[in-house]
Amino acid sequence: MSFYIEKTTKCLICGKPIESFKEAVLLPYIISDKSSSLLPFVKKYVHRKCFDNWNKRDEFAQSAFKLGENMIREGHYENVIYYDKYFIIDYQKKENFYKVRDFLLIFEILINKEQAENAVNFFKKVYLGDNSKLEHGNIVFNSQGKDILIIDYDKDEINDEIIIPHFRINDYITALDKIVKHNENNNREY
Ligand SMILES: [Zn+2]
Repeated sequence: MSFYIEKTTKCLICGKPIESFKEAVLLPYIISDKSSSLLPFVKKYVHRKCFDNWNKRDEFAQSAFKLGENMIREGHYENVIYYDKYFIIDYQKKENFYKVRDFLLIFEILINKEQAENAVNFFKKVYLGDNSKLEHGNIVFNSQGKDILIIDYDKDEINDEIIIPHFRINDYITALDKIVKHNENNNREY
């Protein structure tokens, strides 16, 4: 386990210091054998940009996702409604929130039903080339060319900031749709 220290913690990919926390990503645990060249990166900080352009990114994301799948089987999640395309979506009934974990972009967000509905429509619009912006509670979605910038606020502070690249938007539409549909089913039941 390593700690992030502003302007001091170095990125393990490029070796340069990471200026601010929002540029940093903490790499998760993975499944691998002891000789894997990925192991030294586990639980280390890297620049988000370096991770996105890393030639081992897909391999790393797959190993992390595989571990996630094992954890589902072992009962570490509360109520998984979807796992595919590098996502695990877990419904947290008590808080009525969905925790969306993206193993490819290494990103996690808590979203409620209403936010998911609005986000699906927003993602569809941007996918078709619309410029738009969506503000919903603590989460702001912004189109940036063909990509989407998500900023997650904790009061006035930026909690996390991430760009969803265009190639990933369709996967987000699929995943967010699962949340919308899951709720529709719930409403019919109760
Ligand atoms: Zn770097």
